[in-house]
Amino acid sequence: MGLTGLEIYKQLPKKNCGECGTPTCLAFAMALASGKGSLEACPYVTDDARENLASASAPPIKAIKFGNESVIGDETVLFRHDKTFYHPTTLLIQVSDMLDDSEIEAKIEEIEGLEFDRVGLHYSVDGIAIVNESGDPDRFSKVVEKVASATQRSLLILSENPDALKAAVPGIASRKPLIGSATLSNYEVVVNFAKEQNVPVILKADGLEALNELVESAQKLGYKEFVLDAGSRSTYETLANLTHLRRLAIKKKYRPFGYPVIAFTAKNEPLDEIAEASVYVAKYASAVVLKTSGKAHILPLMALRQNLYTDPQKPIQVEPTLHAVGDVNENSPVYVTTNFSLTYYSVEGEVESSKIPSYILPIDTDGTSVLTAYAAGKFEPEKIADALASSGVAEKVNHRNLIIPGAVAVISGKLQEKSSWKVFVGPRESSGIISFVKALQD
Ligand code: SF4
Repeated sequence: MGLTGLEIYKQLPKKNCGECGTPTCLAFAMALASGKGSLEACPYVTDDARENLASASAPPIKAIKFGNESVIGDETVLFRHDKTFYHPTTLLIQVSDMLDDSEIEAKIEEIEGLEFDRVGLHYSVDGIAIVNESGDPDRFSKVVEKVASATQRSLLILSENPDALKAAVPGIASRKPLIGSATLSNYEVVVNFAKEQNVPVILKADGLEALNELVESAQKLGYKEFVLDAGSRSTYETLANLTHLRRLAIKKKYRPFGYPVIAFTAKNEPLDEIAEASVYVAKYASAVVLKTSGKAHILPLMALRQNLYTDPQKPIQVEPTLHAVGDVNENSPVYVTTNFSLTYYSVEGEVESSKIPSYILPIDTDGTSVLTAYAAGKFEPEKIADALASSGVAEKVNHRNLIIPGAVAVISGKLQEKSSWKVFVGPRESSGIISFVKALQD
C-alpha cells in the first residue's frame, strides 16, 4: 500500500525551496501521495530516501508500451471528472489461427479499413490479436508471420502454450508485441521468455486472489512489464473484476494490481459484443480484444471511447477561420456558429446534406457551444462582426446575408447594426437547417 503524505514528507529534505514546482516540501509530499507528481522533480532527495520512496512516487498504474505506439495504463483517477483519463482503451481485433489463409487475408483487409474521421479527429483500431486456437505451434507461427507482414498495427500474440509463443514471437520481437498468457502453471517459462524478448506479457489467473498470487510470484522473476487478466469472461464478473482492480490500484495504491488490465469479449452476436465491449471501455479496461470487425459495429464503440477520453477541460475545437462546404460560389449562403467541434460539425453535416454549397464561419468561443458562449460573453455581436470583417467572406460573396443560430436570436438586431449584414435567424437546432435554407431560397 502507498505511503501517506506525512510519511513521505518525513523523508524529504525540508528546504521548502520550491524548485520542484510546489511551494513547500509538504505540498510536494501530498502531491506524491496522491500520485500527481514525480520524485524526480526534487533535486535534493537523498539516495536512501529515493529508494524508500520509489514505490510511493511511482504512478498508481504502470504505463506499458507495446507495438505501434500503444500505451496502456498510467491512469491516476477513478472518474473522468476527478481529472482526466490519459490513454484511450486500446482496441484489438481477434484473428484465429484456425482460419484458412484466404479468410485471414479478408479479415486483415477488413481491419485495415477501420479508419474513421469524427468531429475533426482521425481514429482507428489499434491492433490485431492473433490467437492460437489450433494448438499447433507451427501453424500459429505462420499465421503470426502472415499477419505481421500485412499490417503495421500493434500485435497481441496469444497462446498459453510456451512452445507456440517461442515459435511465433522471436521473428517479430522487434515489433514489440504484447504476448500472453502467463498463468500459475506456466509463468516461470513465459515471463522469463518475455523478459528475454523484451516484450510485455499478460498475467492471467482465475479471480483476483489467484491473480494476486501470480503477480507476486512473477515479480520475483525480476520483470514488471505486465498486463493483468482476471480470467473472467462473463460481462458481470469482468466488470466487477475491472472495477475492483482499478479501485485497489488507485484508491488503495495496492502495488500488485498497479498494472494495466485487459478484457476479452465473450458474446458472439456483433451487437451484443459491442455492448459488452462498451462496458469494458467505460469501466476500466486498458485494452479490449473483440471478434467483430464490422465497420458499423466498431464505429459506435470508437465514438464512445473518443467521448470518454476527451479531456472535459479542453473541448475539441475547430479553426476559427472561414470554412467552405461544397463547391462554393458568390451566391453561397453564409452561416455563423461557434468553434466547439460538436456544434461546428453538427452544422457542417446539415449544411452538406442541404446540397447547397455554403460558407461557415466558426467564432472563437474557446470551444464552447452557442448558448454557453453567449452566456459567457464570447458570442457577442461586436466579436462576430469583427470576425466577419477579418474572415474575407465579403470578397467571396455578392450578398450581405448572414444566418445565425436560432438560440441567439436576441443578438440579431445589434449584429445587423455592427456588421451592416442582413441577419437571418436560423433554426434553434442544426437539424432544422435543411428546411430553413430551402425555404429561404424559395
Ligand atoms: Fe522540498 Fe525538494 Fe521541493 Fe525543494 S525541491 S521544496 S526540497 S521537495
